[in-house]
Amino acid sequence: MRSRLVASLRPVPVLLGAIALLTACMPTIPQRSLPPQPPPAPPDLPALAPCALVHQTSEEDLSNGARGWFRGTWMSQYSTFLIRHPKGVYLIDASMGSDTAGDLDKSPFWFRLQFGDAKSAKPLKVLLAEAGVKPEEVTAVLLTHTHWDHTGGLAELPNARVIMSAADADWILKQQDFLIEGNMPRHFDTVKDRIDRLKFDGPPTDGFPASQDVLGDGSIIAIPTPGHTRGSTSYFVRSSDGHRWLFIGDAAWVKEGFEEPATKGRLASTVVDQDKQQTADTLALLHEVYAAKNATLVTAHDARTWQDVPLCKAPATVVK
Ligand SMILES: [Zn+2]
Repeated sequence: MRSRLVASLRPVPVLLGAIALLTACMPTIPQRSLPPQPPPAPPDLPALAPCALVHQTSEEDLSNGARGWFRGTWMSQYSTFLIRHPKGVYLIDASMGSDTAGDLDKSPFWFRLQFGDAKSAKPLKVLLAEAGVKPEEVTAVLLTHTHWDHTGGLAELPNARVIMSAADADWILKQQDFLIEGNMPRHFDTVKDRIDRLKFDGPPTDGFPASQDVLGDGSIIAIPTPGHTRGSTSYFVRSSDGHRWLFIGDAAWVKEGFEEPATKGRLASTVVDQDKQQTADTLALLHEVYAAKNATLVTAHDARTWQDVPLCKAPATVVK
């Protein structure tokens, strides 16, 4: 979830923010000395070309995205990523569905004030149609975390498995509230029986303590990157052409987050990061991957990080 709390200057968020600011103490980002080593590429990787589906774009205060003063703005996206793999069509997150208006109408007024403009976000099924994909063709969604702006489209995918951390799954399925900590548990109502919990029973990789080979061919490797939520997860995606991306969800909102590295703005982090210290620890590991040039880090909300991740288009059809 991204937030425009500071930019909005609306009374309740500002009041809540002032209280949070007064009480917030920001963690430091640990530094490490040894660069992580990427594992060797498996021999039979498929050629993969992830692309982005953009539900909505809006201008945000960059000082929310990365701690600092007067950084200007960045164009923030609500996004879903699409990967065509020989085993099926995979999505990373399922950002916005057809009932975003319903999501907002039933939310508390401060949430509507904050995120009301998301009512005009394009639903996932519309974006999939533009990319030439039927919703029933989606094989699985790889969830980075459970915040409402990453799960709104789940209900539009009738056959997709939902691959996610056990920590996030176990927590969200117990929740009864309409809106809790930026999550909307009702988004999981139709997919409860299609959830596959990641075990992270694979070896350490790239400085991270554990991993899981999602498809068994080395092309998509899940790693635990907790902090933003209890079970936030990132995914290495590796193609036979040598590309290696790391989709990090909201571990950082903007490129400055993992480049410098810098936590989100003090107020933003206090509001949206479930565990600030854990988020900072994760950021340190992500920064090392970035600094060692072991992968292209891709955030959900900052298109400046989408290097070699173009907008999705329908595959060209051959006219005979
Ligand atoms: Zn988000």
